[in-house]
Amino acid sequence: MPLLNIPDELLEIRASLRQFIEREVLPIEDAHREEIQERGTFSTIREEVLKLRKRSAELGFYAIHMPEELGGGGLSLLDQVLLHEEGARTGSILAQIEGIFPVVSGPNPIHMDCTEAQREKYLYPLMAADKITCFALTEPGAGSDATRIQTRATKGEDGIWTITGRKHFITGGADADFALVFAVTDPERRAKGGITAFFVDADTPGYAVTRVQRTMSPYQNPVELTLDGVRVSDANILGQEGFGFYSAVRGINGARLQIAARGLGLAQHLLDRSLEYAKDRVAFGQPIGANQFVQGMIVDSFAELEQARLLVYQCASEIDEGADGRRQAALGKLVATEMVGRVADRAIQVHGGNGFMTELGIEAWYRDVRAMRLYEGTSEILRANIAKTLGL
Ligand SMILES: Cc1cc2nc3c(=O)[nH]c(=O)nc-3n(C[C@H](O)[C@H](O)[C@H](O)COP(=O)(O)OP(=O)(O)OC[C@H]3O[C@@H](n4cnc5c(N)ncnc54)[C@H](O)[C@@H]3O)c2cc1C
Repeated sequence: MPLLNIPDELLEIRASLRQFIEREVLPIEDAHREEIQERGTFSTIREEVLKLRKRSAELGFYAIHMPEELGGGGLSLLDQVLLHEEGARTGSILAQIEGIFPVVSGPNPIHMDCTEAQREKYLYPLMAADKITCFALTEPGAGSDATRIQTRATKGEDGIWTITGRKHFITGGADADFALVFAVTDPERRAKGGITAFFVDADTPGYAVTRVQRTMSPYQNPVELTLDGVRVSDANILGQEGFGFYSAVRGINGARLQIAARGLGLAQHLLDRSLEYAKDRVAFGQPIGANQFVQGMIVDSFAELEQARLLVYQCASEIDEGADGRRQAALGKLVATEMVGRVADRAIQVHGGNGFMTELGIEAWYRDVRAMRLYEGTSEILRANIAKTLGL
């Protein structure tokens, strides 16, 4: 990272993050890695994961992306990128899957629209890692085109809202204490003032996790949520009635760049492991890394990673300096997530048959990173966002 002059304070935070992951997180993961991979769930180590989240909050990592006035770390986007990258570089699962840096199951800039009462009830417990949330927008009939959601909230004469609908692919939903549910409140207006975000406590009658959805990744288990006549009041509305999407976009640039940073860190992790393997593994009387075909795979990954890293840092800096961020966040996520997919593929190839076996955990990352090109804007939607900023 020669182009960056990282302040000493951030270098210290980064070093303490690495220390925390290496000393406290990785030993727990390593002890349970096989069962997590096989069963596709963290449920058997739920208590340990909750403790680690709490510890991350105590050490100041958990809410590092939230503004200082709310008790967060107040870090710039570039600083956040550097930390997410470092977390992923360790190869820790929990550092990447909502354990230490929550992207969707913890506090998010979207919660800056909370009223004081909502801060007390939802935001502060989230920041302290005492509660877990989930972001419930996507539905079977509406993903990229989220304006087409069917979940409906209607207000009765008693002033109480009744929400009915079905959400799917909801990350963190299995453990969430409350969900942020997006529902249509005015079908005529939809994106233009007709979709509202409601806080719904998981113990509200009619709210149910109806299915855990097994995925291609061994580390991700989103859920289907059913809302069957869930009753909530105006006090549960986040921000303004009808303007849920306006709150939602507050968090989108940060979330996209955090995913991009994760792509950088994980690519570095896989590259480090490939390099080590290429030096150790002997075939035809010499380390496989002496072979130019193997060198080519490693150099291609190195070159692509260096390009993506500079781009992501640049994109984060531009937003920190005041750019509106639509293009930067889309560009950073597009390039870094496509890059890490190719790097993971090459990492398997460099490791040969060992790379394909579950024991090394490399194939698990290959499967996991595939999702990065889908959530928080598919690669196609990101391309469309960028095209728009180019005047197309
Ligand atoms: C692991 C995982 C976790 C997720 N977590 C959450 C969560 O916590 N909360 C939540 O609300 N959602 C979540 N999602 C949902 C995610 O945001 C959606 O999957 C995503 O928005 C795409 O929607 P879709 O799957 O319905 O695909 P579709 O929108 O049906 O798209 C299908 C294909 O068509 C392409 N396409 C669609 N429209 C266009 C267009 N205009 N131009 C070009 N191509 C287009 C897409 O790029 C894609 O290739 C998660 C998804 C995954 C995979």
